[in-house]
Amino acid sequence: AARVFSGIQPTGVPQLGNYLGSIKNWVALQTQQLQQGRSITPHEQFISIVDLHALTVPRDPEKLRKETIETAASLIACGIDPSRSVLFRQSAVPAHTQVHWVLSCITPVGWLNRMTQWKTLNFRSAAAQNLLTGLFTYPVLMAADILLYRATHVPVGEDQIQHLEFARDLLVHFNKTYKTKLFPMPTPLLTESRRVMSLRDPLRKMSKSDPQEYSRITLADTEDQIVLKIRKASTDSISGITFDPESRPGVSNLLSIYAALCSTSPKAAADVMSNFTNAQLKNTVAEAVVNSLSPIRQQMCRLLEDRGYIESILRKNEVKAREVAEQNWKSIAKCIGLSY
Ligand code: ATP
Ligand code: MG
Repeated sequence: AARVFSGIQPTGVPQLGNYLGSIKNWVALQTQQLQQGRSITPHEQFISIVDLHALTVPRDPEKLRKETIETAASLIACGIDPSRSVLFRQSAVPAHTQVHWVLSCITPVGWLNRMTQWKTLNFRSAAAQNLLTGLFTYPVLMAADILLYRATHVPVGEDQIQHLEFARDLLVHFNKTYKTKLFPMPTPLLTESRRVMSLRDPLRKMSKSDPQEYSRITLADTEDQIVLKIRKASTDSISGITFDPESRPGVSNLLSIYAALCSTSPKAAADVMSNFTNAQLKNTVAEAVVNSLSPIRQQMCRLLEDRGYIESILRKNEVKAREVAEQNWKSIAKCIGLSY
């Protein structure tokens, strides 16, 4: 059977890129069927709040706990239905760390050295000595997440494609090393807006953890904040509106955001707005963002009035996640000669 797995780090309130690149897809997958080979199959969906991944950057424990609950609330507010998707905390399922260890013991260091997110760190800086092992092996933990649920489909943003390819290579390597066919190949699922760019620097992706607050719109932003952030978004001084990501990354990013929210294409949106000034474009985009995100923010606020309720939802789902994970862990342990 098909199985969907994906994750989000509890590193702050999700931003528009998380929503358009991943969360929207997760919500849609709750009611869609998936293609597997030639047949259409029903599937289960596992959505993990990956708090173990979040530890790769030092976190204040209270803040991590708080942001974990807020992440859960924001996902539910976006339409993740905990009776249709297994929404759970990664750390509630010990097998993630067990599989991480097993996989790290068959992962050549060279494979990890090639990862772009690691390679682009500054190794000449004085701080290089303090780069963390967990950050280096992050992709191994992600492969473990996927393997543990025998996921066939992984809906992610474009920034995770390389990590997913790494996971696929590692699963092939695992199957070969242990002469098994235990694990299916996971296929990535991307949305049209697979890479929402930063509002400050449209050559970088929008991120929760970008130190510049004005680089992102979060699901908790008020109408005023959204309007202000879009008004300050970096564009260019070419007159008229055209969609050209290469030469007009700022304007094109706004058009892509608009298109994703209003179910049109960036090119069609540009045609309609071709005579607009940048200010008019920004007003139009801001209105679309406000219309889409306001109900989510309100629902999130309501949900966060009762954090105990969110906690109870997670606990209930974690029983199910552990059940599936434990069974798969047993087959892994058996396959490689560990106690099971
Ligand atoms: P952080 O800065 O802490 O890494 P993040 O914004 O990159 O936060 P993640 O929790 O790492 O968010 O990723 C959650 C999901 O959102 C992943 O599937 C990722 O590919 C997707 N995603 C993240 N940023 C974007 C973006 N700008 N556009 C589209 N998808 C994105
Ligand atoms: Mg990220």
